[in-house]
Amino acid sequence: MNERIERALADLRARQTIGEWMPCPRCGRDTMKPALHTNALSRHADGIYVCDECGTAEAMLDFMRNPMPIEEWAVFQAPRPESDLKALSGAEAWERIGMEHGPILIELYKRWKREPANADFTPYRWEAFKKCPGLTEIWERPFQARYEVADGELILRLRQTDEGVEIAADLLEHSK
Ligand SMILES: [Zn+2]
Repeated sequence: MNERIERALADLRARQTIGEWMPCPRCGRDTMKPALHTNALSRHADGIYVCDECGTAEAMLDFMRNPMPIEEWAVFQAPRPESDLKALSGAEAWERIGMEHGPILIELYKRWKREPANADFTPYRWEAFKKCPGLTEIWERPFQARYEVADGELILRLRQTDEGVEIAADLLEHSK
């Protein structure tokens, strides 16, 4: 468990302890019962309560020796702002993404390239989701971004050329 997650868990624990309302940290749904201690105590995050369904799921997955990593809890996923890109065709979406997200992604890519080899991509991923509404996923090696659009998936690949950073866009069409 890395330091970022440990800090976030400590914060979560403190907020649950003072009775702050929050969705279940594991599944992200509004399934917590108002009295904190009547919920399930997580088997993996010390002192953190999850909803009953997640408590059961944790027990099942443990029994199958296939626990879900804490990093995959809903509370650790980047918030994704709403966007209407999904309603656009790949060509229409690319026109907008190229203009609005292109400069942001290029700037992120340049900063990421300067990071040491073992750097954590998570802060970059969060920043990308925050600044690029409609982004579906982003990966660091190779650096690419995926957008769900009306007729398929738009994949953006960034690479360094002699003239600067270049973005190539490919539309993977849904089979009809
Ligand atoms: Zn839950």
